[in-house]
Amino acid sequence: MTRLFGTNGIRGVVNQDMNSSLALGIGQAWGTYLKRTVSHPTCAIGTDARLSNHMLKSAVIAGMLSTGCDMVDVGLVPTPTLQYTVKEKHFDAGIVITASHNPPQFNGIKGTAQDGTELTKDVEEAIEQIYFSKRFTHCNWNEVGTASTLAGAIDLYIEGILSKIDVPKIKKHRFHVALDCGNGAGSLVAPMLLKKLGCTVTEMNCEPDGTFPGRHSEPIPENLTALMKNVPERHASFGVGLDGDADRAIFIDEHGSYIWGDKSLSLVGKYITKKKKGGVTVTPVTTSTCFEEVIRKNNGKVIYTKVGSPIVAAVMKQTHAVFGGEENGGLIFPEFQYCRDAAMSLATILEILATEQKPLSELIAEIPSYDMFKTKIPCPNEKKEQVINLLEDDIEKHHEITHIDRTDGIKLYMKDSWVLMRPSGTEPIFRVYVEAKEKHHAEKIALFYKNLVDSLIQRT
Ligand code: MG
Repeated sequence: MTRLFGTNGIRGVVNQDMNSSLALGIGQAWGTYLKRTVSHPTCAIGTDARLSNHMLKSAVIAGMLSTGCDMVDVGLVPTPTLQYTVKEKHFDAGIVITASHNPPQFNGIKGTAQDGTELTKDVEEAIEQIYFSKRFTHCNWNEVGTASTLAGAIDLYIEGILSKIDVPKIKKHRFHVALDCGNGAGSLVAPMLLKKLGCTVTEMNCEPDGTFPGRHSEPIPENLTALMKNVPERHASFGVGLDGDADRAIFIDEHGSYIWGDKSLSLVGKYITKKKKGGVTVTPVTTSTCFEEVIRKNNGKVIYTKVGSPIVAAVMKQTHAVFGGEENGGLIFPEFQYCRDAAMSLATILEILATEQKPLSELIAEIPSYDMFKTKIPCPNEKKEQVINLLEDDIEKHHEITHIDRTDGIKLYMKDSWVLMRPSGTEPIFRVYVEAKEKHHAEKIALFYKNLVDSLIQRT
């Protein structure tokens, strides 16, 4: 079956593949799906700061109203704010119109279940099936849903975060934070949260603007150069850059150095497992070994999952994990909610700094360092399965392998290094990730396995 949902909702270029008729159809399909289990569903909807939000939101709302769902518009909010509102206000579902960190011409539709977690694959497939079969529920004229608005979602969310962290301890330190919201939805939350935590804030790109005039939305090093420069110049305690819908946060140390997501994930994981004296943590197989090292040192355990935040969150829920997240700055705090949350990450980093009383660069230097090397190889989708099978046969000959993990593709552990070969779920490519203690070693292994995968693709 053709798929609409990718790893993070439905995305596309506005008025091309992401258009109002698709949004209307998704609304009708979603409403039809909800009506199967709930007689009178109420659904919350919000958007990030993109220019096409109103068009897509209106179409989704119209589609859902036609099935008999009531719709409550919470306005412009970060994705985690919408997710928190769904959970706290007991909505039957939540929808956010966002394309996260994609360029401004993109937009997307993303859903959450009743408990605020991202939709599982089963639910997405059920909605897709209704969409393609066009078997929509059309309710009677007198049962069409009602549309209303809800104010105060952001206040509710900020209050929720403040209730989970040590506010007096953070306030005492009067931190100075350089904050780059990238003109995204985080602009409405992060400055206010920091002020409530007694911080001085140097604001950059903190006006919501769907043209993203300040910088590209993804918080990768090349997009955060101004922030990296600003942190030492303004003598800030640290810097933080958010993505467009504020579920991911990337940190900059007091010297202006970019902190990779693996390291911030490890720092927070270390703090939480230390506090809890162990516990289960969850992360995808692509995460650096530095995470497992610090978690194990604190008597914690790491469970690895396939790539994608919904699966990380689902496994966290099943295993009663104390923490989890991805290596791209998407951290999940289960005591607050089971989804990635940039503002909660920011508040937690402040609590860590206040507790440890060391600069961020020093805390990061305490996390073990590995070199990671990533590459990709074009591979037609229909060849992927056969390539994996051939890989299985081939690696039996490799004596240096100590352990094989088949969670997502094939991950081979060797002494002081690992290699992961996984077919992409969305693109006709094979990804190869290698991690080793030294860069030249990682590159050497990557070249070997890239050539191996390449030759297997040629052979099929
Ligand atoms: Mg995002």
